[in-house]
Amino acid sequence: MRFVFLGLPGAGKGTQARILSERLGIPAISTGDILREHVQAGTRLGVEARTSMDRGEYVPDRLVVRMVEERLREPDAGKGFILDGFPRTVPQAQALEDALAELGTPLTAVVKFAISDRTAILRITGRYTCPVCKRTYHKELSPPETDLQCDFDATPLEKRSDEDELTVKRRLAIYRQQTEPLELFYWERGLLREVEAEGPKQEVTRAMLAAIEDVSA
Ligand SMILES: [Zn+2]
Repeated sequence: MRFVFLGLPGAGKGTQARILSERLGIPAISTGDILREHVQAGTRLGVEARTSMDRGEYVPDRLVVRMVEERLREPDAGKGFILDGFPRTVPQAQALEDALAELGTPLTAVVKFAISDRTAILRITGRYTCPVCKRTYHKELSPPETDLQCDFDATPLEKRSDEDELTVKRRLAIYRQQTEPLELFYWERGLLREVEAEGPKQEVTRAMLAAIEDVSA
């Protein structure tokens, strides 16, 4: 089972990807995490990527495509995967389609998590992330039990530099322009399924499972 998750930042893609990953025993691959690992390790790709990330812009296609293709060749992705944060542009989607066609393993479905701009801004500007396990919290909507500490590993939570209001608004504008055309791209291929994602996490999980029931049984 090979899935792509789409949706505005703050739509809960990462959280739902983790839930589905555990359920199906396939890895949730977040390009945000792959990128941050490259940046932290100071690889050449990472150094190049960092400039764009610091400005709240997306990293150039050729860099991201290389990182993702490398990741998909790892053995744990053989049984399937959930891609979260990739593709972000039509050229990236085309590159992914070509790579998967070569392997004879096309996508199973593309799930779009739908929220309003207002919800996206509210969720992201209050968000804190655990740098170790990548779980996210929200200062009002889902606070950790102990102030600014991860519930699972007690690591101090961090605020990402691309999550202040101005940067989030820029990310939304870029999404509209570059990523929204993907919905049509996947709809034309009969792969797109839409999930209402304004509600609480458990509700979104139920809607997601219902949306892919026919292909994940
Ligand atoms: Zn943690």
